[in-house]
This record gives sequence, structure tokens and C-alpha cells, in this order.
Amino acid sequence: MTARYAVFGHPVVHSLSPRIHAAFGTQLGIAMQYAAIDAAPGDFANALGAFAASGGLGANVTLPHKERALALCTEASDRARRAGAANTLSRLNGQWHGDNTDGAGLVHDLTERRRLDLRGRRVLMLGAGGAARGVSPALLDAGIGELWVVNRTAERADALADALGEPGRVHTRYWADLGNLGAFDMIVNATSAGRSGGIELPFSLAGNRSLAVDLSYGEAAVSFMAWASAAGCEHRFDGIGMLVEQAAESFALWHGKRPDTDPVFASLSARADSLQTA
Ligand code: NDP
Repeated sequence: MTARYAVFGHPVVHSLSPRIHAAFGTQLGIAMQYAAIDAAPGDFANALGAFAASGGLGANVTLPHKERALALCTEASDRARRAGAANTLSRLNGQWHGDNTDGAGLVHDLTERRRLDLRGRRVLMLGAGGAARGVSPALLDAGIGELWVVNRTAERADALADALGEPGRVHTRYWADLGNLGAFDMIVNATSAGRSGGIELPFSLAGNRSLAVDLSYGEAAVSFMAWASAAGCEHRFDGIGMLVEQAAESFALWHGKRPDTDPVFASLSARADSLQTA
């Protein structure tokens, strides 16, 4: 029987994961099925159970199920526990093992594809939702100097800082303070503001050597990318690179081989304007 994999989300119809994993499988000669399964929040556990019962070997998990996915795992990696969320599930000995490849995907994109050195950077994290939780531990592990978490809802920023457990390196501030924080070497947009009216930020956050990264892509990345350009950030990237690299990390966990991500990255980048974040 062909090995079965899937991505669970709600909605999930626009997910690029089936296409990315199919391309990786073709590249490495690995036969498998990879489906997109829409599960409403109350149905996720049952849908995942049915998938396991039908022989499912691995699952990616996207909004809004990542935290619930971790809770359904018997075991979880350290990075998934620090993120408080799982985006990759592997079926081993009849149980789900959880991992989170978002942070490794972002760091791989920035340090391997873009050849950037993250060490010592003063980093601003805009947002404290699932994506910010996923990437923050990996950025700290990559050697950034300071992480400043600013979220529209201040309590979530504090909760993320508490979970990261590094009070000397991790700081939180209110959204209204953004104009008083000075310039950052790296600004990460981990909000979903680009899906609903865009994001407005003070230019004082950017220096002329700054790196600006939007975890969103397609239409959802337009407003932050425009701000980064107008603010004079030297390096500006959307989330397509992270998307492809986190998928490659998941693929490697399941199949034991990491694909060459360049062809898939090139193909998605070529039509980035028409992509919807999923
Ligand atoms: P969540 O729903 O978990 O969090 C959304 C975050 O955005 C919260 O911090 C929320 O603040 C903030 N936010 C929403 N609207 C606004 C606004 N108008 N102004 C300021 N802040 C706002 O979503 P995720 O963290 O999972 O996803 C965030 C983005 O990252 C999405 O666009 C998603 O597609 C992308 N992503 C990309 C990945 C990739 O591989 N490239 C992987 C994962 C996510 P508050 O707490 O106040 O509501």
C-alpha cells in the first residue's frame, strides 16, 4: 500500500503542502500520497484518529490545530515543547510523535539560502501567535543577541517570553511603544495583519543594514514588504523560503532524506504574487 501523508487545517484548500511534498517525492523517487484534510476545530482529534486508523504515517498541521496537535502526541521534541505547538506528526509504534519544523525552516532559509549571519542581531518579533512561537526558539538557538516581542495583545507577548525562559535576552513591549524602541538588525513580521488591511509601522524600527522577514507570503506579505522597502531595509524576504524549508525538514523526518529545495522554491517564487497564505 502506498504510504499516506496529509496536511490538516481549517481552511486548508489553499495549502501548498501537497504540491511541495509531491515535488519532493518525485525528486527523490519516493512513492507516497499526500492529501489536504479540512477538519473544523472540534473535529480535529477524530479526523487525525481516522487518518491513523487508515494507515496514515505522517501529518503536517496548520492553523488552527498546531497547539491541539501537540496535546495529542505521546512524545514531542524539545523544539515542539518550547514552541507549545506541533506542525509535524509522525506515527511510530501506534502513537503520534510531535515536532515543530517552522523555526528550523526559517533559520535554514536565512542562513543557508540567503547566506546571512544571524549571530548577535537585535531582533524584533512582531506577533506572538503560533508562527512567532514556532520560530523564536530557533532564532535564539541560532545565536541572535536580543529578542524583543511586541504583540497587539500584550498578554500573549508576555506568555511567549515566559515560555522562552531567557529573561536576559528576551524582552516584551506594548504595540504603542514601537516608535520608541530604536532600530533593529532584524524585523520579523509574524502577524497575520497582512490578511486584513495590512500593517503600519514606524520607519525608526529599521536601520539601513536591517533584515526584514515576513513569515506570510503572497498577497498577505505585500504591506510589510512595502514598509520594509520604504524604510530602507537592506534585505527583504517573504515567507516562501521558510514554507519550503519547513516542508523539507518534515519530509526528512518522515523519509530520512532531505530534498533539494531550490527547484520548488524557484517555482513558487515565480508565481508568488498569486499565492494566498494558507
Ligand atoms: P495566529 O493566528 O496564531 O497569530 C496571529 C498573530 O497576528 C497574533 O500575534 C495577532 O495578534 C497578530 N495580528 C493579527 N492581526 C493583527 C493586526 N491587524 N495588527 C497587529 N497584529 C495582528 O497565526 P500564526 O502565528 O499561525 O500565523 C501568522 C502568519 O504567519 C500567517 O500569515 C501565516 O500564514 C504565517 N505563517 C507562515 C509560515 C511559513 O512557513 N511561511 C508558517 C506558519 C505561519 P493578537 O494576539 O493580538 O491577536
